[in-house]
Amino acid sequence: MDLFGHLNAYDYGEVHFKLDKATGLKAIVAIHDSRLGPALGGCRFIEYATDEDAVIDALRLARGMTYKAALAGLAHGGGKSVIIRPKQHFDRVALFRAFGKFVDDLGGHYITAEDSGTGLEDMEVIRTVTKNVTGVDVANGGSGDPSPFTALGVRRGIEACVKFALGKDSLDGVHVAVQGVGHVGYHLCKELHAQGAKISVADVDPLKAERATREFGASVVELDQITAIACDVFAPCALGSALNDATIPRLKAKIVAGAANNQLAQPRHGDDLHARGILYAPDYAINAGGLVNVAQEVLGYDAGRSREKTLKIYETIFEIAERSQKMAAPTYRIADMLVEEKLATMS
Ligand code: NAD
Repeated sequence: MDLFGHLNAYDYGEVHFKLDKATGLKAIVAIHDSRLGPALGGCRFIEYATDEDAVIDALRLARGMTYKAALAGLAHGGGKSVIIRPKQHFDRVALFRAFGKFVDDLGGHYITAEDSGTGLEDMEVIRTVTKNVTGVDVANGGSGDPSPFTALGVRRGIEACVKFALGKDSLDGVHVAVQGVGHVGYHLCKELHAQGAKISVADVDPLKAERATREFGASVVELDQITAIACDVFAPCALGSALNDATIPRLKAKIVAGAANNQLAQPRHGDDLHARGILYAPDYAINAGGLVNVAQEVLGYDAGRSREKTLKIYETIFEIAERSQKMAAPTYRIADMLVEEKLATMS
């Protein structure tokens, strides 16, 4: 593996490795950038085909966290950890305790949280050996489910786009097509409904779509139609790569603004949206509400402060749209540029 080649490619940073024979722990902590503060980011616990895949996953994810935290105005850098899920039998509590000690040894330089494959119970185990953990139980000062905060930020981002592109001050009567009504999509529908928006939804799970109809009067459309229906806003809230060669030519919406991570299948799809005059709210800018919420745990959790900070996503998205117009450049590049400008002042 060309390890330092990978570090250069992702513009690093530091990476820490831990092998604990007693528990079978094989863990990687990637700290992409800590100029704004200690690196914050979740711990992923999944199987990897090779160690190299695990390293690249950690590098890629931690870099994304730097951008998300910086744009959300958090005093945190980007970090992420990966525990390679053992193929043989393992003691989960012992494994996460060993991981917690590893995090603790980093002296607060990295703060962990939940991610794919980890949950509240794992964070509670980690909490027994280090204070550098978030996403713990509400009873222990945790911030709870991040989805309502992510949805609040997405609603604010949609409002900014609607103001900028459609000149409207409210979502009343604005038609939003929500792809995926899981944790965030459900709460987004609730937010949109409260603002008087017209909602269409699609979900692979018909029960989730029906719930949105029952509670928010949403119309249900076929899975392959949600990107193509006539509407004002397309809100991807399911998986990544929703914006690709197949979907972009079909979009009738003037705005794309949703919660999903990695919405652009490739960066060039951000250029395609720009060329078609569709205002795209960059994913990591609009979906930062959950991270904003978890970050408040570090300071002593306060839901009011989380809400206040999440509401600011409106200004961030509006600024990106304005700069994009002024510089005739796609919004995803403007978002990256804002972060890079900010980090450069910290050098
Ligand atoms: P989730 O798994 O609860 O919801 C996803 C929903 O999408 C599910 O209901 C699923 O059935 C549906 N779905 C899957 N494939 C689909 C398809 N092809 N068409 C329509 N629906 C489909 O996940 P979530 O926590 O709501 O997160 C949604 C997205 O937002 C993910 O990309 C996630 O990474 C991102 N995100 C979530 C948070 C958060 O706070 N949970 C924060 C930031 C980003």
